Amino acid sequence: MTLLLGCIADDFTGATDLANNLVRSGMRVIQTIGVPTGPLLESVDAVVVALKSRTIAPAEAVAQSLAALHWLQAQGAGQFYFKVCSTFDSTPQGNIGPVTEALMDALGTDFAVVTPAFPDNGRTVFKGHLFVGDMLLSDSGMREHPLTPMTDASLVRVMQAQSARMVGLIDHTVVAAGAGAIRARITQLRSHGVGLAIADAVSNADLFHLGEALSTARLMTAGSGLAIGLAQNFGIKPSSAASKLPPAQGHKAVVSGSCSLATNRQVLAFQHTGQPSFAIDPLRIAAGDDIAAEALAWAAQQLAKPSSGPVLIYSSADPQVVQAVQHQLGVADAGAMVEGTLARIARGLVDLGVQQLVVAGGETSGACVQALGVESLRIGGQIDTGVPWCYAIEPPRSLASIPPIALRYRRVPPEGTGLGAAQTPALPDTPAAGLHLALKSGNFGGDDFFTRAFAVLARSS
Ligand code: ADP
Repeated sequence: MTLLLGCIADDFTGATDLANNLVRSGMRVIQTIGVPTGPLLESVDAVVVALKSRTIAPAEAVAQSLAALHWLQAQGAGQFYFKVCSTFDSTPQGNIGPVTEALMDALGTDFAVVTPAFPDNGRTVFKGHLFVGDMLLSDSGMREHPLTPMTDASLVRVMQAQSARMVGLIDHTVVAAGAGAIRARITQLRSHGVGLAIADAVSNADLFHLGEALSTARLMTAGSGLAIGLAQNFGIKPSSAASKLPPAQGHKAVVSGSCSLATNRQVLAFQHTGQPSFAIDPLRIAAGDDIAAEALAWAAQQLAKPSSGPVLIYSSADPQVVQAVQHQLGVADAGAMVEGTLARIARGLVDLGVQQLVVAGGETSGACVQALGVESLRIGGQIDTGVPWCYAIEPPRSLASIPPIALRYRRVPPEGTGLGAAQTPALPDTPAAGLHLALKSGNFGGDDFFTRAFAVLARSS
């Protein structure tokens, strides 16, 4: 079995986004949650190792990324992709620069192309400047990001501030001229001692040119966009075979902890279809009520009905309701409590026979995947832009191997919150396997996502 591409993603939903693009280009892909403890057991074209390293200390991000690289190398990967956010989320300390350079050192390569461009998602790079839709990055909402405020749209400057190597630019005239021109520019930059280059891209054609030019590159650092141009280098063409998952079976459920506008609309649309839903009240969790047990007892009744459709369990609420809860409980405590409860519910639903599960919310997905003991996911067909169905592959080893990975995803309750075992997801007794999962972050998906997802799965598997 030949692993063509080894990918390291700096966050969980970003990993899925990359895996989704690779599958759509025809590659067979597995996403792992953290660095696996054992070897790859399936024959696939690419593996995406999902880390949670975007905003941790640079030294820790480097250590985790190198561990992922070494595992991918041990599986035979020859080319590597460091997946970063399409809004280049980082600070002058990192982590894009330090991780890229550490990977370059480990791979013995003196040059890497860097581009977060993903025109289909409104992320374009022109003259080295990143645009989010029609706005410069520095004029977009990313300006106010609590952890990684992006106040400079010049990616050459942003990358230089966090890199030891000299940073250059492969500008649009070169990229538009095709792979030959890009390779010539790389040779020129290297001869001037440049080690990293931001690449412009304003269209998918640009990404295909870049992909072709990078056919022999050891490492690239990019958003998920650049992935669309890589399959061509391996002679792979888009095909439905790449996204084929085992047939769907079992009960269907949706667990939603996202309060983003799109998710709130999806909850309403689901309720309008007349299908059953159960609301989680964070204040009752804080009061010590066993809301997970209540929700699961309700779900057991619903699922026992003949030909039951999907059930929805949600904490999603309008911004003013969320703010009131956060005001009373604190933002971190409210988040941790709700995530813990939803994760226990997800685990309980699977124990009730749910084998098709949609989870809404990035952090919520992380918590649920951990509680389910899922170690790796085969990536299937796309439901809506950026959100594929996945299939939890049965962990081959005993559960003794799960805690180190799971713990990496465990949100530690803030000190003094009194959050006990009831609010933190227990490590699973048995891993969830044979489970179809769709993990949807915040603002993804159309209004009918919670019903259409199951229809898409029924059609495609
Ligand atoms: P998104 O992808 O939309 O950002 P996340 O799951 O990443 O969703 O984040 C939502 C956060 O809000 C989680 O920490 C979740 O536990 C928390 N949360 C969910 N519902 C509520 C609520 N009703 N009140 C307060 N916090 C909530």
